[in-house]
Amino acid sequence: MKHDPKAIALDRIRILLKEAQSNILQNPDLAQRQAGIAKRISTKYKVRLPYETRMQFCKKCKSFIPPGTNARIRMGRSALKSIRITCRFCNHTYRKVIIQPK
Ligand SMILES: [Zn+2]
Repeated sequence: MKHDPKAIALDRIRILLKEAQSNILQNPDLAQRQAGIAKRISTKYKVRLPYETRMQFCKKCKSFIPPGTNARIRMGRSALKSIRITCRFCNHTYRKVIIQPK
């Protein structure tokens, strides 16, 4: 289990994304590159990224858009609790539902 390539891949992805997050303000280009590598690793090893991680990538242009940096986040006003995330690179907006209605 220790040498499970998927576990190692996921570990590397975590490290890369952590680095990317700490670099995004000072060095956005580097952060985008690190995030890009993380995404490539996940594709190569077919590891499913955790939900919080997937949320940080634009669905359209695949840019790394952690909240508060390259994404604009707005609360939805409907009864369905949701947030709207707008990518600053391609202006693509998508909605995330926070609480599923019962
Ligand atoms: Zn985008």
